[in-house]
Amino acid sequence: MNTREFIEIEEKYGAHNYHPLDVVIERGEGVWVYDVDGKKYLDCLSAYSALNQGHVHPAILEAMTEQAKKVTLTSRAFRNDQLPLFYKEISEMTGYEMSLPMNSGAEAVETALKLARKWAYQVKGVPRHEAEMILASGNFHGRTVSIISFSTEPSYRDDFGPFTPGFKIVEYGDAKAIEHAITPNTAAVMLEPIQGEAGVVVPPEGYLKQVAEICKKNNVLFIADEIQTGLGRTGRLFASEYEGIKPDVTIVGKALSGGFYPVSAVLASKELLGLFNPGEHGSTFGGSPLAAAVARAALKVIRDENLVENAAKMGEYFKEQLEEIPSPHVKLVRGKGLLIGVVLKPEARGARRFCEALQQKGILAKETHEHVIRFAPPLIIQKETLDWALPIIREVLMMP
Ligand SMILES: *Cc1c(COP(=O)(O)O)cnc(C)c1O
Repeated sequence: MNTREFIEIEEKYGAHNYHPLDVVIERGEGVWVYDVDGKKYLDCLSAYSALNQGHVHPAILEAMTEQAKKVTLTSRAFRNDQLPLFYKEISEMTGYEMSLPMNSGAEAVETALKLARKWAYQVKGVPRHEAEMILASGNFHGRTVSIISFSTEPSYRDDFGPFTPGFKIVEYGDAKAIEHAITPNTAAVMLEPIQGEAGVVVPPEGYLKQVAEICKKNNVLFIADEIQTGLGRTGRLFASEYEGIKPDVTIVGKALSGGFYPVSAVLASKELLGLFNPGEHGSTFGGSPLAAAVARAALKVIRDENLVENAAKMGEYFKEQLEEIPSPHVKLVRGKGLLIGVVLKPEARGARRFCEALQQKGILAKETHEHVIRFAPPLIIQKETLDWALPIIREVLMMP
């Protein structure tokens, strides 16, 4: 079957909840993917940063297949021999005492919300069912009903109410607004250190540090959603590190499995995660031996291959080179490490046509929010590959 035939079947039988580029991928290796017609592309999206380690990383593949031959699922009704080692290794790598594994990012976000509410009632003394959370405009934390309850994006919300109460939205990047929104019932502030889905929006320098201080002063938890920015993407293990802070709770997902299998986790202190008692929260697949084995291997690759350092080095070079392209369409280039957004001027007629032109020339990138092209290749990318891609990107950004 060719590209056209696959697309026809997909459009006929599948819900149209995405607007994908018309490329049908059948194989991936490292930074490259191949379509059903045999054409090769550089992947500059990395499945929204789930593929920091690159496609089908051999070490993760080995861990996954070896574990799949032994035992894949025990449920948490029984213990398994992978989960304890996952807990220990992610704690040693991140400096958080404890973690709680889930599957998708949205589930980990929901887990963090439940944790913050429980802490508010059990520790802070907020009257039961009156806890509030503060979130930022432009946020993206997933797609469940509670999570879209605090989205400010009409297409994520319209027609999906009624919504979960207890959330306050303030302007992203404005620390004072958070201070003003805090009440005695505030349990937590949850933010993305860089807003990926909003178009790689980098907040003003010092913002996260100020928010952390405001939270501390007011006895409010600070939750960082690092599902997209974490695990090396921005050139630090966590983007929060740029401001020298350690949030009370950090949420990870996406690259935690190197793209093999959905694995997410909530990282926090023993004081916080210790609040969950048996039966109060759970997941059938969360913390399965397969998930734990895959995540252990995925974390090991980040460590062993110095992906954090490489993201910092390659990201700096990539961003610098993108900034030098004298395109009439580009307003600015922003981001950190290998999470880069090329923001187009309104008169550029949208990012989609540039992404389609890049696709024709062998580079896969995706528009985010109409006017931004996101460049987020796997963190294993080498300078030679960027030097191959840059003239192509230049040619596309220079088109009329
Ligand atoms: C992708 C993402 C999520 C949701 O993760 P899913 O695995 O798609 O549920 C949450 N927060 C951020 C910042 C993300 O980028």
